[in-house]
Amino acid sequence: MQQFEYKAEMKQLLKLIVHSLYTHRDVFLRELISNASDALNKVRFRKLTDSDIQSADAPLQITITLDDEGKALTLEDTGIGMTRNDLIERIGTVASSGTLAFIEAAAEQAKQMDGRMIGQFGVGFYAAFMVADEVTIDTRHADPGAEAWQWSSDGSGTYTVGEGTRETRGTTITLKLKEDAAEFAKDWRVKDVVRKYSNFVDFPILVAGEQVNTVKALWRKSTDNVTEDEYKEFYQFISGDFQEPLDRLHLHLEGAVTFDALLFIPKTAPPNLFQEDYQRKLHLYANNVFIQDDAKDLLPEYLRFVRGVVDTDQLPLNVSREVTQNSPVMAKIQKILTKRVLNLLGDWAKNDAETYAEFFNEFGVLLKYGVSEDYAQRDRLLKLLRYASTTTEGDAMTSLEEYVNRMKDGQDAIYYVLGEHRDQVIKNPNLEYFRQHGIEVLLLTDPIDVFTVNAIGTYEEKELTSIDKADLDLGETPEQTEGKLDDSTADALLLRFKDVLGEAVEDVVASKRLVDSPATLVVGSSGLDAQTERLMKMMNQDLGPTKRILEVNMAHPLIKNVAGLREQPESAALVESVINQVYAGALLLEGNLDDPTAFVERMTALMEKATA
Ligand code: ADP
Repeated sequence: MQQFEYKAEMKQLLKLIVHSLYTHRDVFLRELISNASDALNKVRFRKLTDSDIQSADAPLQITITLDDEGKALTLEDTGIGMTRNDLIERIGTVASSGTLAFIEAAAEQAKQMDGRMIGQFGVGFYAAFMVADEVTIDTRHADPGAEAWQWSSDGSGTYTVGEGTRETRGTTITLKLKEDAAEFAKDWRVKDVVRKYSNFVDFPILVAGEQVNTVKALWRKSTDNVTEDEYKEFYQFISGDFQEPLDRLHLHLEGAVTFDALLFIPKTAPPNLFQEDYQRKLHLYANNVFIQDDAKDLLPEYLRFVRGVVDTDQLPLNVSREVTQNSPVMAKIQKILTKRVLNLLGDWAKNDAETYAEFFNEFGVLLKYGVSEDYAQRDRLLKLLRYASTTTEGDAMTSLEEYVNRMKDGQDAIYYVLGEHRDQVIKNPNLEYFRQHGIEVLLLTDPIDVFTVNAIGTYEEKELTSIDKADLDLGETPEQTEGKLDDSTADALLLRFKDVLGEAVEDVVASKRLVDSPATLVVGSSGLDAQTERLMKMMNQDLGPTKRILEVNMAHPLIKNVAGLREQPESAALVESVINQVYAGALLLEGNLDDPTAFVERMTALMEKATA
């Protein structure tokens, strides 16, 4: 027998499970049954093509045995079993990003953690330590000639692996229950838990000799024969989520391709939705036989939040991943399901704005990916996008369609501004003109928006146009023209600005868009807007700063004062300092000021002068 020490994260995880999860501890049983069911699925699948396995005739089932006096629970499956290496690599080691996310979430919200969260994070097997002082695994892999191995741990720092006693294929897990978890050695209690969480498991679960799970292939039943509670339980069973789903689709389709599907849209995004090892929990069955639990080819990437089951008779039983990837049947199913899911979302968007907003807050970013990825669904997807705008208030958002309906006569573009958050972007001086003219501007504050505006391009022939672009043909209002410096003074002042700023800017021009601010930076002919530039920097693709055009407001009192001082030799230093400060202020507002020290020093000197 050999002793192993857990890695640091594993110890942390165990400590959390043992010491901070006191409610909903019954979830441990669901996790163990789910592992057993996965192991049985693997055997069933392998038997389709290979009969040379250990205990080939053993019935595929899960058996739970209870010892009320000895306070022990034993769960046995006739599944694929584990090798010695599996025990060390898969059981002894933190594998998924979910586990790490779990540790992080627990650290953040220490008090609110409960046992139910385990399901969402895929912590799995270790849930056993919520209720057990000691856990022993006895296992024998299905490969001919594989030997039996035993794994054991008390959930503190170490575990042991040694020779096992199991004579047939499969795995036996024995829990020595904690004093305060003795209830899990009682028949009635365990039967209740199995019914609650594992009613839909595809293999018989026997507790004290009696089969407890009852429901078979819910998705094949007609919609009239399924109750709301069954739908809800099935969703929770398949997703590990403890909330109700936001909505569902139950389809029985016949035609070019025949299949049953039961799909759910969750209320909240699972914690690892954007991690590489995210598991979709979208199950594929062929002829009622389980094939995959993470069927990537049933829906496009951007709909990966959808959970459920798809069952078709039109795939061979022994389908491999390669087959599903290239199968025309799968392609047809994907096309139909994508359309159905997007239509469901479209219905909410139209008829149930509240549900849709709830959905969009959680998953909207994926639809934005969709616009770039799925040209075929472009029109459906564009209708589903929502953005904050200068017209919406609080958390409210607008669709592109609503924006276009509100457009002013003669307005031929959809205007947007990119930024990090609402409070920052609404202060962008480039918005002043739009505000004064009552032209709505979309406020795009999601990092992905930088990419999607390009993918959208135009909506109903209206081009998405950044308000930071220099060549906007905006026209001026009489109020703006009023009170302006005359042209020759303005030109002379611009020269002075260019003199002082030199290479820092592409050009300095008189502004047609500013109302309240003295100056603003806009993007020159070849430049990237400020947000894109910052994003490139974040991705370490600093292309060097692109030069901007400084637009100066010729009606602003400060600018007019500077024009007045411009000709006095004794004010030269002051004028230069103000010009530098005006430019630095514009950089600061767009989030690109690299030298705050110089900024503050100049400001201090100017204030000192003003207060002297
Ligand atoms: P997950 O099930 O999310 O992968 P677990 O910690 O529950 O995480 O299990 C880790 C791994 O241990 C599983 O992926 C599987 O390979 C193996 N395993 C667990 N239980 C069993 C079992 N009853 N039979 C065979 N393998 C198992």
